[in-house]
Amino acid sequence: MTNVPEKFGSKVFNDKVMRERLPVTTYKALKSTIENGEPLDSGVANVVANAMKDWAVEQGCTHYTHWFQPMTGITAEKHDSFIQPCGDGVIMEFSGKELIKGEPDASSFPSGGIRATFEARGYTTWDPTSPAFVKDGSLYIPTAFCSYTGEVLDKKTPLLRSMERLSAEAVKVLRLLGKTDVTRVATTVGPEQEYFLIDKDLYEQRVDLKLTGRTLFGAKAPKGQELEDHYFGAIKPRVAAYMKDLDEALWELGIFAKTKHNEVAPSQHELAPIFTTSNIATDHNELTMEIMQKVAERHNLVCLLHEKPFKGVNGSGKHNNWSISTNTGENLLSPGKHPENNVQFLLFLAAVVKAVDEYQDLLRITVASAGNDHRLGANEAPPAIISMYLGDDLDALVHSIINGESYESHGKERMHTGVDVLADFKKDNSDRNRTSPFAFTGNKFEFRALGSSLNIACPNYMLNTMVAEELSQFYDTLTDADNVETAAGELIRDVLTAHQRIIFNGDNYSDEWVAEAERRGLLNLKSLPEALSHFLDQKNVDLFVKHNICTEAELRARCEIDLEAYSKQLNIEALTMIDMAQKDILPAVSAFIREQVDAALAKKALSAAISSETEEKLAASLSEKQARFAKLIGELAEEAEKASAVKDPLEQAFAYRNLVFSKMEELRAVGDSMEAETAADYWPYPSYTDLLFGV
Ligand code: ADP
Ligand code: MG
Repeated sequence: MTNVPEKFGSKVFNDKVMRERLPVTTYKALKSTIENGEPLDSGVANVVANAMKDWAVEQGCTHYTHWFQPMTGITAEKHDSFIQPCGDGVIMEFSGKELIKGEPDASSFPSGGIRATFEARGYTTWDPTSPAFVKDGSLYIPTAFCSYTGEVLDKKTPLLRSMERLSAEAVKVLRLLGKTDVTRVATTVGPEQEYFLIDKDLYEQRVDLKLTGRTLFGAKAPKGQELEDHYFGAIKPRVAAYMKDLDEALWELGIFAKTKHNEVAPSQHELAPIFTTSNIATDHNELTMEIMQKVAERHNLVCLLHEKPFKGVNGSGKHNNWSISTNTGENLLSPGKHPENNVQFLLFLAAVVKAVDEYQDLLRITVASAGNDHRLGANEAPPAIISMYLGDDLDALVHSIINGESYESHGKERMHTGVDVLADFKKDNSDRNRTSPFAFTGNKFEFRALGSSLNIACPNYMLNTMVAEELSQFYDTLTDADNVETAAGELIRDVLTAHQRIIFNGDNYSDEWVAEAERRGLLNLKSLPEALSHFLDQKNVDLFVKHNICTEAELRARCEIDLEAYSKQLNIEALTMIDMAQKDILPAVSAFIREQVDAALAKKALSAAISSETEEKLAASLSEKQARFAKLIGELAEEAEKASAVKDPLEQAFAYRNLVFSKMEELRAVGDSMEAETAADYWPYPSYTDLLFGV
């Protein structure tokens, strides 16, 4: 691609296109909706719709679609053409009404029992804060999704609401501090996205990857990630060609794809965009995941977004870099040169510390999924215990505040390389701690526990809401103070003192931390069912209801949907395993045993002097494993049957976790050890070596 600046965003109905194509008054009205959250007038919508349609048709579009994010976690779309009968023919039309409101049948989307299917009407509503774009011959309009009776059925609505809540509370606090020029505050997010690329021909031979996104069997390859030679390694030509195409496709869609590199596991890679507002970052991340998979097909590759496609090497996550910035361009989490005197920074820091401590469970819940359960606490991703890392400097400052000691920051030190031709540079204030789930990284927090396939709307609406709550409490404490500065100082000290247990700068992967966290009274919610049993704790319900993010019924529905998705996923995995075990693995092992037995008999028949010990031993070993394997298949089928009959969603999730999942692990162990003993020609699936080193 030459001339990237020109092609960047060429498929987006962005500010430049709006300025060119909309009358000035319409443009101004729309901008003020986008920037100041003012309601949109229907006359404006008509003009915008027409301009959008003309632009889209010029780009070859025949259809438009409201694009939304139901609780399946993936995006949904239903396309309508622009045609309108006119005489014997048609004209292309698109009205403001069609732009603003869509009516997909909502009955087949998960609602967690909020609506019965007979009252399945649902609406999508245009979200003008995220730009429309063209893709595959359609105009895509980002929308929110709710039911006929107004219940929220998607991931975007709570996110937009939480952004508004945080903005309102932050502005109030800033006013108290004398910062009156700020009228809005936005949360910003830069999500780093990990993924695997494998050869499509091999993928096609793995029913487990096709049905569940991960390998359910697979003996370890002789080489994994132990040499640490893949992380940041030279990118292979086929992968480089893929990454180039991917960047170009994303840039056309206005997505700020910035960084790409090889990750820790073989065949694992990462893409990071430049951050933007949480809402757009969410839409862009959803689009990025989709385009990643599409572009892969063009290269005869498959992009795996599952959190744990392969056992024994790292799985994939997503880092949610998060901050808050004002409409005057200030990052509220930037400590400045002297954070010790920066009351504003310390107040916002204290709000985040308090939020993370009080709502540890919510942060854990929001990253819980069947896939992510494989990673958290497995020494490749943060543990299931939520804590915060502040770095040495900030930690020292926090301690001086708690102890009432004076503190002077060192500012940024210069890095001396000791080589004349290398320029010296300024060091960052804090080193990195890659084991922390929630790390301060200079002027933002990096929430590192997300799974790779997660829709980031969820963690972000929860994070925004809990911080909004703390800010609203801060406002109440400070609003009547005679001296705001002094009162703020006391508040900061009190909050940091009360919540210091959540701060941990050490190695989160160590066993000592698990014990220490328990002493501190921090939660360690190891699996999705354990985490979700806290979802509806009163303080969590109160939080979302108070801030108008969700009603209690909607929260219950969300909880139920997550539990059901988990149980369904594990059920599919169990059934797929049984299928593979019975239809492919058992017959393959039988055939191989037969070959060994035949060989042994043939040797014996020929001469007693020829040893048939190897064949006999192998046949005996495999036969013994085969018998255990067959028995475990039956037991797994029984456990799956029992779990599927459990009525209560939480109990059912626990049944899948405790009974079905553990049986799957047992079955896999035997299967993998049979793979290790069976000739490659007989084994029905491509091996881990093929899959991980095949591109
Ligand atoms: P890492 O070293 O953790 O791999 P990267 O440099 O790859 O980090 O990514 C950091 C991410 O943080 C990028 O997506 C970047 O745009 C984002 N980021 C930087 N500043 C902010 C901010 N103020 N708010 C949100 N995200 C930010
Ligand atoms: Mg990171």
